[in-house]
Amino acid sequence: MSDTPQSFENFKLNKQLLLAINEAGYEKPTPIQAQALPLALAGHDLLGIAQTGTGKTAAYLLPLLFKLKYAQGKHPRGLVLAPTRELVLQITDEVNRFAKYTDLRSVSLYGGVGPKSQIEALQEGVDLIISTPGRFLDLYNRGEIFTRDLKTMVMDEADKMLDMGFMPQIRSTLEVIPVKRQNMLFSATFSGRVEVLSQEFLEFPERVEVTPQATTAETIRQVKYAVPNLKTKIHLLEFLLRQQELKRVIVFTKSRKNAEAVSNYLGRRDLGEVKVIHANKGQNTRIHSMDLFKAGDVRILVATDVAARGLDITEVSHVINFDVPLIYDDYVHRIGRTGRAEKDGEAITFVNPAEAYHFDKIEGIIRMQVVELSLPEGVEVPPTPFVEKQEYEREIDLQKRKENPDFKGAFHEKKGNPGTNPFKPTEKKRGNKNSKAKKNRSQLKTQSKYKNK
Ligand code: AMP
Repeated sequence: MSDTPQSFENFKLNKQLLLAINEAGYEKPTPIQAQALPLALAGHDLLGIAQTGTGKTAAYLLPLLFKLKYAQGKHPRGLVLAPTRELVLQITDEVNRFAKYTDLRSVSLYGGVGPKSQIEALQEGVDLIISTPGRFLDLYNRGEIFTRDLKTMVMDEADKMLDMGFMPQIRSTLEVIPVKRQNMLFSATFSGRVEVLSQEFLEFPERVEVTPQATTAETIRQVKYAVPNLKTKIHLLEFLLRQQELKRVIVFTKSRKNAEAVSNYLGRRDLGEVKVIHANKGQNTRIHSMDLFKAGDVRILVATDVAARGLDITEVSHVINFDVPLIYDDYVHRIGRTGRAEKDGEAITFVNPAEAYHFDKIEGIIRMQVVELSLPEGVEVPPTPFVEKQEYEREIDLQKRKENPDFKGAFHEKKGNPGTNPFKPTEKKRGNKNSKAKKNRSQLKTQSKYKNK
């Protein structure tokens, strides 16, 4: 889309949110964010058709948090309903990430645990509730939630909520919240039932939609390697780059940090000149690197997705996905760099144990099974360091719980570090020192490094 804003700065967001977005490493809005943000910020009701992996959560959370601004009153002003406890926790993670430089108070509510600490958190005052439909109604019926200040309501993964039989709870909820409010409904599919729900829930909605690109050019050979750890990824990358047939290669990483680390490493390995492009590089530097690469003076270009988008580079012989992209559509964009203009190309993806889940989803989107190759002999495979193994296990636990909310993994309910916040007033004890309520409020920051770098 040519009118896609290039930066989050183009939206009417405040500096607290922009700072947090920057810190999250989001360089540019995803297509669903680019479409949804201006409409939601202008106060429209929204119907969003988008799957996980498109950046849909931030598409509704940023306008919502912008509207809530700062802690105010005692009763919730925003409500997000989501089908599972796992999704509630994931959304809470994103809320914590974006609201880091505000004093907004969010509480997550879900079943499977006693309500006591959730009730205590509510009683301390709350701006935003993230909840499963059942638990929300349960606590409302107990008189623990006052809905009269609710001005914005979101339903996430509406299709899944309907599949899980939550329609009665949703209808009851709609009866007990103020009529005048902004509504956003997100769903991966737009089935007949979702349509019925959207008619009941939304008023003159604007529709925003991203459909994953399903096809990848037939001239591209796609392969993957299961790689146990980061060090092995680096060894494999070096091994491949030593092969002569890799004439002109783009190596994609998921973050600027990885792009820098990979290019620094390669730069020291006697592989010829390596250039790196990411959003922190000035425009001129980027253009210069691109020109050298295009002219064939530089064989290896390391890039993040954002930096590479929209660049017409032909005659790339190989794309190497050092990291699996978190925005699944980026896979299609990345490999589209090779096999252009009738030229054959190869796309090689390195998949670590935690990324296997995401790559599986990508294979669903491109509707094909990518051939897996065994690691070439000569690639050193060092053991996985303990901390790295733990990170993978935590991420895999999380993925399993996403698929099955009853799954109890080794890491469930691990709490993260809320971090420091220069914008937050130093004294905001808000009443008592009830630690349980606080624990509930600051929320289980289970998500970690692998979600966002
Ligand atoms: P979602 O579709 O909301 O589940 O998001 C998928 C993943 O993409 C999550 O890990 C987000 O943190 C990440 N993400 C969302 N928006 C962006 C963005 N603009 N740039 C980079 N990553 C993003």
